[in-house]
Amino acid sequence: MVAALSVALTGGIASGKSTVADLFADRGAVIIDSDLLAREVVEPGTEGLAEIIDRFGAGVLDGDGRLNRAGLGEIIFADETARQDLNQIIHPRVRARRTELIAAAPDDAVSISIIPLLVETGVRDRFAGIILVDLPVAEQLRRLMARNHMTADQAQARIRGQATRAERLAVADWVIDNSGTPGNLPHQVDRVWTQLLWEKVSRS
Ligand code: ADP
Repeated sequence: MVAALSVALTGGIASGKSTVADLFADRGAVIIDSDLLAREVVEPGTEGLAEIIDRFGAGVLDGDGRLNRAGLGEIIFADETARQDLNQIIHPRVRARRTELIAAAPDDAVSISIIPLLVETGVRDRFAGIILVDLPVAEQLRRLMARNHMTADQAQARIRGQATRAERLAVADWVIDNSGTPGNLPHQVDRVWTQLLWEKVSRS
């Protein structure tokens, strides 16, 4: 009997997690994306959104009754207590939903949960292993500025708010080097994918 294998994929902001996850999806992995779950748990009609309105007021909604993420982002960027309150509403719901989706994966699946804040939130023990998308901070900064149209100061502040590159490397079981061009990714993903398939077989 082959059992499903559940691993996590992490990396700093704009390191290339989504890019790498797409390549694993092409090879057959079940991808569970925390960013998507964080949106799902605050959709209109959810308990999550109701709690946010209780805490922050209806001013955080846009005209359609959906969460105005940019507006809320500004509030929490300027107020650490507000940020923690928001996390306490969203994170447990994301974790619960992720656990459900991992459990729902077919027996022969390799599920890969994208968890940007894996090191910061201490959830790594729940996974059979950790895949890290790694790159030098200077290159990460360039890609973040380009993708999010940020100044260097804004991008640096976002990077400084996260775990360090060394902290991530310390927990990684498999490292995908994304310092080069996207063309350098497929063969690395193939190597890790082969190892994940072996891991799955050897555990069952
Ligand atoms: P994350 O999901 O970790 O935030 P993304 O996969 O969105 O990161 O990648 C961040 C940005 O960098 C995106 O605009 C993406 O297209 C780009 N990118 C990813 N890998 C590379 C690469 N090897 N070279 C150049 N740009 C890249």
